[in-house]
Amino acid sequence: MKLIEHFIGGKNFSGESKKTSKVYNPATGEQSAEVKLANKNDLDNAVESANKAFKIWSDKPPIQRARVMFKFKEIIEKNYDELTKLIVLEHGKIYEDAKGSLTRGLEVVEYACGIPQMLKGEFTENVGTNVDSWSTRQPLGVCAGITPFNFPAMVPMWMFPMAIACGNSFVLKPSEKDPSCSLKLAELFLEAGLPEGVFNVVNGGKEAVDAIISNKKISAVSFVGSTPIAKYIYENCARNEKRVQALGGAKNHCVVMPDCDLDQAVNGLMGAAYGSAGERCMAQSVAVAVGNIADKLVEKLAKKVSDLKVGPGMDKNSEMGPLVTKEHLEKVKGYVDIGVKEGAKLVVDGRKVKLQGYEKGFYMGGCLFDNVTEKMKIYKEEIFGPVLSVVRVKNFEQALKLVNNHEFGNGVSIFTRDGDSGRTFSHKVKVGMVGINIPIPVPVAFHSFGGWKRSLFGDQHMHGPEGVRFYTKLKTVTSRWPSGLRSDPEFTMPTMK
Ligand code: NAD
Repeated sequence: MKLIEHFIGGKNFSGESKKTSKVYNPATGEQSAEVKLANKNDLDNAVESANKAFKIWSDKPPIQRARVMFKFKEIIEKNYDELTKLIVLEHGKIYEDAKGSLTRGLEVVEYACGIPQMLKGEFTENVGTNVDSWSTRQPLGVCAGITPFNFPAMVPMWMFPMAIACGNSFVLKPSEKDPSCSLKLAELFLEAGLPEGVFNVVNGGKEAVDAIISNKKISAVSFVGSTPIAKYIYENCARNEKRVQALGGAKNHCVVMPDCDLDQAVNGLMGAAYGSAGERCMAQSVAVAVGNIADKLVEKLAKKVSDLKVGPGMDKNSEMGPLVTKEHLEKVKGYVDIGVKEGAKLVVDGRKVKLQGYEKGFYMGGCLFDNVTEKMKIYKEEIFGPVLSVVRVKNFEQALKLVNNHEFGNGVSIFTRDGDSGRTFSHKVKVGMVGINIPIPVPVAFHSFGGWKRSLFGDQHMHGPEGVRFYTKLKTVTSRWPSGLRSDPEFTMPTMK
């Protein structure tokens, strides 16, 4: 059986811990590898390596760091197919979707190529007579990233290219369910000229995460995953005096107004609810049908959901792949059982789908619920599978209130042809990322990604300008070059004259 190890100091590293976890190919249901689960010593080893490398890397002029980023971009482009396959074979999503997610990660590398411009700072001549002042952003030290299973390339790439371009070194702890893509990216970064130890990958689970939290040499932690773990990371990293951004779970609504282009809304919803088998933090899992649009919406959705082509991610005809693990598949099906018990109307039931030749794969078909209410568990909780709930409301105000009352606030969208509805909605909604006639409003690399409420703990979003702020600290220098005359001591608060 293939053994997946760690990548520390520019080399494969076996580590002290003998613990491992199983990695599967979700399309066949077969185990494809064992991945090592690091203990505290293994993690500390990576941090030592990163700490040494930080001293060299942070001294490199930003333009030199940018050149390595440019080379990294080229090398990723040459390895697109291999990286994409690694995502498909361990996560299960379809090839084109996996490729798109890699492109979204690559765009962060492209953005990071402009790092000299972003670190320029500000200068004021003569803040007082013959006194100048400037501010600059300096790297933090060793930063760590802890990432979820659902985007094995894109989410780590929201973090490490930004951190490293800013002059930090990095320790990534990817999901133990699909670790191979991160390791490949680390090898490619080294090939691009990144000094050994600047980017390290440590595989593991809770023990490795707790070692990150307790390691005093780690200055900042970026986390993406479920809300309970995000909260745990946020509280404990803060307790250990680390800078922290912890992105959590979601329940994204799509408000369908009676005046919208219904076919556009239905197609948008299909991709957003069932793409990647609903395993996206920006997946739309609630369609809010406003007024008299509900019956037509459900009818059109039902037809398309029943026709969804479920199959292995490497099959060009598949529209939706399997779920990541058998446990997750059972959990999602369990939610559908709960929805039925709660009294929602199951319009399309995908629980029984089986694929010939792939009987052990972790597949289910798309499920569609109608008449879901605010009190139901399937409305309140994140299911993270191909299950869309339709909630019927009377008017725009009720739709807005519903969205704003939910505990999560990651993404939301509205389909309408009315400018006033679109503008009022985007202004008043309490959600971090808003789409108007856009089903999945994921901000591009030069903007920043993040939710509100219990979808993000901390105050900086990821990548874009907020990424630069998160991975640097501000220093402001005030200077005077006296021309020979010594001044007397001053005991009052200095003010500029
Ligand atoms: P998860 O929270 O189970 O795992 C995330 C990371 O935390 C993994 O690296 C995992 O090894 C680690 N972890 C798991 N349990 C832990 C524990 N008890 N203590 C310490 N560390 C632990 O999430 P997941 O199932 O891998 O990913 C799906 C979740 O991620 C969903 O809730 C989804 O909404 C969320 N997500 C959010 C965003 C966002 O931007 N807000 C993006 C992608 C995914």
